[in-house]
Amino acid sequence: MDMNIRPRRLRGSEILRKMVRETRVDKSSLIYPIFVKEGTNIQEEIPTMPGQYRYSVDTLPKALEELLHAGVNKVMFFGIPDHKDEVGSQAYAQDGIVQRALQKAKAEFGNDMYLITDVCMCEYTSHGHCGVLCGQEVENDATLELLSKTALSHVQAGADMVAPSDMMDGRVLAIRTLLDEKGYKEIPIMSYAVKYASAFYGPFRDAAGSAPSFGDRKSYQMDFHNRREGIKEALLDVEEGADIIMVKPALSYLDMIREVKDTIDLPVAAYSVSGEYAMVKAGAKLGYIEEDRIICEMAASAYRAGTDIYLTYFAKEIARFIDEGRIG
Ligand SMILES: [Zn+2]
Repeated sequence: MDMNIRPRRLRGSEILRKMVRETRVDKSSLIYPIFVKEGTNIQEEIPTMPGQYRYSVDTLPKALEELLHAGVNKVMFFGIPDHKDEVGSQAYAQDGIVQRALQKAKAEFGNDMYLITDVCMCEYTSHGHCGVLCGQEVENDATLELLSKTALSHVQAGADMVAPSDMMDGRVLAIRTLLDEKGYKEIPIMSYAVKYASAFYGPFRDAAGSAPSFGDRKSYQMDFHNRREGIKEALLDVEEGADIIMVKPALSYLDMIREVKDTIDLPVAAYSVSGEYAMVKAGAKLGYIEEDRIICEMAASAYRAGTDIYLTYFAKEIARFIDEGRIG
């Protein structure tokens, strides 16, 4: 008897191997993170993330058009405001940068492009922390109110889904409650539930100008040694009403993707973060690795680990590789 789980007869031709693949990667599960900033006629490359740009609202449609053309129809907006203050008021301003980007995208693309927003304070606060401070500490409950306001303003501006990334306790419930109250019961929440304090976020902070001015985020993000804590966070957010649970980063946390997938019965998302992107780009530039193949392997590993949804700066490339039959 052939002990191989994949019988020899199924390992023959390429066409057959593809048919019996265990893991599928498809375009409908890709989300592309995109940075929007104040100003006009801006498309500036992010130095630590070559090939990724910050767009002003007027140049955004062209970028979205390209994505749609590649077959990627889901984006997640990150805002870079001109004005930052102690309470991150531009996060929930009606004419804030994300709100205007949403209005523009909805006006130009209607429902062809699915719009998700990152909901956090750190890009908007002068101190770069994910909430309002009391002394040197982030004040959890006061922050919840601002996060909910931010989420609501995004939905009112056209967001199809909101994704709180701050890791404050109780924020999913707070956002859910306010959205329901205002008649947005059908808007899903994708929660950054299993988010580790990670050096992989380095290039993002450069991209969004959101590095904390003092201290770090370890008091509200998880220690990367911890597994059970990650599961606990995921379960808590499920209980609070999250619709999708995200694990972040992806590459060094494949075990967590699998465990979350096996533990909860909601869709799981994995965010392949800026540092993952930057490593691939830097390694490829030096000629140390083959960029295309690494991108395919990284993506397949996240899906193999159990992710249903993949947030990646390589979304356009992966879509092309799917077209070319190199992954899928
Ligand atoms: Zn934050």
